[in-house]
Order: sequence, then C-alpha cells, then structure tokens
Amino acid sequence: MGLGLLGLFLAASTPASAAPPRPKLVVAISVDQFSLELFQRYRPTFTGGLKRMGEGVAFTGYQSHGATETCPGHSTILTGDHPARTGIVANGWYDRKTASNVYCVSVPGTADPSARGSGMLKVDTLGDWLKRAEPGARSIAVSGKDRAAIMMAGHHPDAVYWWNDGQGFSTSRYAGPVTAKTLAPARAFNRSLFAAWRAKPPQLWPEKISASCAALQQPHRFGRLELSGEVPPQSSSGVTGGKDYLGSSRFAEELRASPIFDPLALAFAEQLVRTNRMGRGPKTDLLAVSLSSTDYIGHRYGNGGAETCVQMAALDKALGDFFDRLDRLGVPYVAMLTADHGAADAAERLGGSAQRVNTGGLVGSLNGHLRTAFGLGYDPVAGDDSRQIVLNLPPIDNQRRDAITADALAWLKARPEVGSAFTAAEIVQSAPPAGKPVQDLTLAERFYESFDPERSGDILVAYAEGATLGMPAAQGDTVAGHGSPWDYDRRVPILFWWPGVAAAAEPQPMETVDIAPTLAAVIGIKAPAVDGHCVDLGQRCPS
Ligand code: ZN
Repeated sequence: MGLGLLGLFLAASTPASAAPPRPKLVVAISVDQFSLELFQRYRPTFTGGLKRMGEGVAFTGYQSHGATETCPGHSTILTGDHPARTGIVANGWYDRKTASNVYCVSVPGTADPSARGSGMLKVDTLGDWLKRAEPGARSIAVSGKDRAAIMMAGHHPDAVYWWNDGQGFSTSRYAGPVTAKTLAPARAFNRSLFAAWRAKPPQLWPEKISASCAALQQPHRFGRLELSGEVPPQSSSGVTGGKDYLGSSRFAEELRASPIFDPLALAFAEQLVRTNRMGRGPKTDLLAVSLSSTDYIGHRYGNGGAETCVQMAALDKALGDFFDRLDRLGVPYVAMLTADHGAADAAERLGGSAQRVNTGGLVGSLNGHLRTAFGLGYDPVAGDDSRQIVLNLPPIDNQRRDAITADALAWLKARPEVGSAFTAAEIVQSAPPAGKPVQDLTLAERFYESFDPERSGDILVAYAEGATLGMPAAQGDTVAGHGSPWDYDRRVPILFWWPGVAAAAEPQPMETVDIAPTLAAVIGIKAPAVDGHCVDLGQRCPS
C-alpha cells in the first residue's frame, strides 16, 4: 500500500474525527467468518454493538493473502505480518519431516493431547510488544477456538482462554501461564454456567425470530444433505435436557453452532476485565476476543439463510451489551473489530456458475492419474488439504519431482472446477511490488503472502470463483466455507470506535496487517518493522 499517499489521504479526510484518546484499555475483536459482504448486508438492521462499531471509522478491510483460513487470518490481526512471515500458512499443514499433518497450535513433542501453544507462530503480537515496552501492562485473550485465542494472544499473554467442549473456558501451559490467578476466573465462570444449565437447559436458538429472518427459511439441498432451513434447526432439537447432555458431543456441536455461544465468550471476557481490573492499572491493557459462532453457523448452514440472519441479530445484541457494560466501568477504551476471513454462501444457493467440488474425488483422480502416468506404486499426494497439494515422493522418485509436479499442475489446470493453480517455484517468484494496492494483487501474489517454503504445499490451487469444497451428506457436515484467494474470502470490515469518534467511511482500503501498528500508535508504543503500516486515525503515526 502506498504509505505516503495513504497518510496524506487520511490526514485530509479525517480532520472532523476527534483523535482517539490515549486509552487505558484496547479491545480487539475478531468475528470469525464475518465477511465485508455480511457486514454490509445486515448493517441496516443493527441496533447494538455492530451499529456502534459502524458509527466509528470504517474501512474496507483485506486479509490480503490467499490461504483465507482461521489460523492464518487470526495470525495477521495483531502481529502486523502476513502469514508468509507469521508462518501460519493454513489451519494445519503436512510436515514433510515427520510425514504427518500438524495443527497450527499443536505442541510437537508432548504426549498431552490437550497441549496447545504458540510455538508455530514465528513473530510477536501487539500484546508481546506492549508487555515488553510497558512493564505492568496486561494482555489477555479469549475465544471460542484455541487457534483464534492463541494467534491473538501471541507468546507472552497474562492469560489466554478458549472453549473446550464439556468443560468451558480453559487454557494450556504451553499457551500462557497456568496459575491460581489465571485458573480461578475460568473455574468460577464455568462452575456457575454449568450449574445454571443443569438446573435449566439452555435454549440454543430463539423460538421467535424477526419477520425478515423468518422470510429466509427455505429448504435447500446441499450436496447430498437436505436442510429444512428452519430456525431452530432440526438438528438442535432434543440435544438439551437429556441425561448427561452437557457432556455429549452432540450438545457440544450444536452449542458452538448456535447464537448463544458468542455471548458466553463476551460474558467471560467482561468478567476478566473486572477481576483483573483491566484499564485500571498503571499502563494500557489489551483484551483480544475472537467470536466463533458466525463461522460455525456459516459452515453448518451457509451464510445466506435464516440461521445466519438470527446469528447476526444475536451477535449485534451481545456486542451491544458487552460495550454497555464496559461503558459502565468508566475506563477509557478503544475498540477495533474485524474478521479472520470472509466466506461465500453454499454454491447451490449462490447459483449462477458457482459449483460444488468433490475435492476428495478430485485428489483421488489426481493420484490415479499420476500413478498411471509415472508408473508409481503409491499415491503421491500426501496430507489432506486439497488447496495445498503436497507431493510426497520417496528418494527414488525425487529426481522426477519436477516432471511429476509439472504434470500434476497441468492436470489440475485442465479441470473445469479449478480456476488457477501454481507451483511453489512460481509462487516464490511472485512477491507483490512494494506499494501495490491490495485489491489489485494477482492470485499468485495473494498466495505469496501466505507462502512458507517449509510449510506450504508444492502446488497451490484456487478453485473456480464461487466454488464450495466438499460433499455434505449428514447433519452437521460443512455445507459452505472459505479458504480461497477470491475477494469474498479476503474482504472483511475493519472498524474502530472510541468515545466521541465521528463516523467516517474511509474509501481507502486497509489491510488487517495494518491493525497492529495502528493500535500500537494509539497506545503510544513503538511497533517493530512489520508488513503492515500505521494508519492515521487522528493519533500520530510514527514517521
Ligand atoms: Zn475462521
């Protein structure tokens, strides 16, 4: 992004807005899978926290990279770096050294299956910068998902929590301190939550919904799965109230994909602000919150139906309640809200040229083709990511690697469901020129920004625009998703709000990697050299 031009442009366009106060608390919120399109579609209906955020400084935001998944997306928000530098190239990747799939927050070398940590994250976060610059500042992160909480918390949080099915908010000693001080608030919250649910099972979805949401209730067939489109969804009936329902995996899954899940994270976050007296210490504190159910609901039902409509209203209300409670604490705070990636609706409901792709079948066919073409006695495609194809060849075939890769690439490009595909060697050569506007990046340049030679695939695949990957067959299967380099997966809102802010819709796009250096300037600390740039909100960006 042309920093000089951008600085001039914003300086000229924002004088009406009061500068953000030097806050005692920065609240950084990520709404998982909250595409710019979703924000715009529902914006006229918001009356709560999303209305408030929309009345601040609003940017068209970009997760500019190609691998638009949760872990890479969250890794950009508070580090200032693209996934190529954070090292988080996907939610998981095929580790060539151990010939196994690794999860982005797994902890190699421990036998503890619940171990989660930031070891894969190659850079520091805003919270790490803050704690180094301002001893006494606190950094706390909360999410419905471990990978979201850990990527926003970084390496040295005071506490980091995520939801564990059947247990409530928990942590891991590889992710942050596990002490009486960090455990007590989680235990208290979980104990009272589960006691309340044992006394009276929660209602996951509202029985009464707005007329505009009700109008979206239409049955659909996604892949091999028929959904009624009704709220409450059929699958959620009967999962509460039975014997030991709180420990059942069905309840756990329905809870996460329901509108009552985000309010839990926000209630716990608010409790953490109070018990830790955040915003009342000697320095500015940082609270990071990632809200997961928009994503769970989008995957389960697509984002074009009544389910997401109801979720948007619930999220708006929960954020409104959260901000109202923060207001009452009397702590000067600055809030930022964005998303880890966007999403498109399921191909069947999108219509037009959008198609559903049976990626399992496609990879199987590619294996079959390569076996025949090269006389291989094994399946060369390793791992389980159909967007980042890894060719795992034994030493005897390694000398044919270039030929096999070229053939696989040509085979993929000839498929109608594939929009474009690139070898790792092509991507390494595709660094975007300095200052190139994010909206103009080529597909190869987008992939470059989330490419790490050791962790990324040998072939990077962009399926056709609008494609939905996978074949849902049973209740609970994913019917829609994200992860492509197309704009509907890259574009997200980036919203800033503080008391007294004047509403401003910035025409200039902003990247999520610009958020951390911008917030660093709001707090008044120096950001290290990162991919992103400080954007002038009326505070002073370092020259
Ligand atoms: Zn996500």
